[in-house]
Amino acid sequence: MNIKISGKILSVVLPVYNEELNIESMYNALFEIINQLDAVHEIIFVNDGSSDNSLMILRRIAEKDKNVKVISFTRNFGHQAAITAGLDIASGDCIITMDCDFQDPPEIIILMVEKWLDGKKIIYGRRSFRHDKFFKRITAKYYYKLLYKASEIKIMGNIGDFRLIDKSVAVELRQMKEKNRYLRGMVPWLGFSYDIVDYVRPIRLKGDTGFNFLKMMRFAMNGILNFSLFPLRLGLVLGVFIIVTGFLFLLYLAIRFFFDEQFYKLLEWLAVVNYILIGFLFILIWIVAEYIGRIYDEVKGRPLYIVESKINLL
Ligand code: UDP
Ligand code: MG
Repeated sequence: MNIKISGKILSVVLPVYNEELNIESMYNALFEIINQLDAVHEIIFVNDGSSDNSLMILRRIAEKDKNVKVISFTRNFGHQAAITAGLDIASGDCIITMDCDFQDPPEIIILMVEKWLDGKKIIYGRRSFRHDKFFKRITAKYYYKLLYKASEIKIMGNIGDFRLIDKSVAVELRQMKEKNRYLRGMVPWLGFSYDIVDYVRPIRLKGDTGFNFLKMMRFAMNGILNFSLFPLRLGLVLGVFIIVTGFLFLLYLAIRFFFDEQFYKLLEWLAVVNYILIGFLFILIWIVAEYIGRIYDEVKGRPLYIVESKINLL
């Protein structure tokens, strides 16, 4: 394949959280790919509060190569904030976001650029297979099914944050200031023309994942709650069901009372049923609280991230 994008600017954005073992090889791999494309380019590393030597390594690379730009946060603000920071400053005609652990294979960039040259505004990387642990594979599968059903815009499954977006998409994306970010939903929400590149997702090259179970759960919740009001409507479904069955039960008791002169000792039954219903009520209150918490976050209007230092950037 011999694709060149001479004369166009390519930006690559990589969030970095404790990736000291991967940065150097990632940079080398990207350098090679970009050379093949013959593109004017910038590689933007966003250091998301790493506690290892990531920043030092980035500094060294950026000193040698002025096309490498670094934004460093004051603390860990999360993967979505890191990508957003990169997108905010990227000046490319097309911008690629990808992980810094080789789980998004750099050679796929060429296929993405090729589709971009065909005129599509967004190119998603889709994981046709993932070499992740069984638990992650199975939860991801059902999560994406649920998300697809629940969300008002169709968020396709197995698509992460490995994507290419055109400059025009980035301009619109920057207008979306929401605090609880779920870029996997925000980008399709924009509605631009898109294409897909399938790839096999390998395991991370070195180091450990920056996501623990809780962080992953919160991220997954963002997907559903930010793109669907369905959970809020659960109360209606449950309420209607309980009222209808409750009335039927009441009718049954009344008939037995008037026609069979039958008396029930219902207290125990009712206590149990009430107990269960209170459990449901708590869950519904929690769902409402999740939305309120998000409203609270938005209303505070805090910035998404705080930058401590920049390298090769104004
Ligand atoms: N990352 C980040 N901030 C975090 C967690 C992760 O910037 O709080 C980066 C990380 O360095 C990597 C990418 O986001 O480049 C994906 O993270 P990771 O590989 O840990 O997630 P996984 O692939 O296990 O879902
Ligand atoms: Mg990873």
